[in-house]
Amino acid sequence: MEHTRVVCKGGHEYPGCMFCDGGLYACSICGTMEGAVPSECPGYIIPLGKVQAIYAGELDYKDGKWIEGACSPASPKYNSQRQVS
Ligand SMILES: [Zn+2]
Ligand SMILES: [Zn+2]
Repeated sequence: MEHTRVVCKGGHEYPGCMFCDGGLYACSICGTMEGAVPSECPGYIIPLGKVQAIYAGELDYKDGKWIEGACSPASPKYNSQRQVS
């Protein structure tokens, strides 16, 4: 399934909201944020251990299953790998 982007309801007084002003991408279903968002949403809160692995570029969720060793396009490592090649 696709991720459900967190949309800030706004109405806050403080400047620099990470969603409104920062443009931060976060999923309200699996609880991941930019850099650690897998290719597809598993539909439940992803445990911290998996989130860290996704961020590290060692795990991805795609085609309805977890794929060890796969790098999510959201991972910082994904871009660094592309720059190398
Ligand atoms: Zn999600
Ligand atoms: Zn906001």
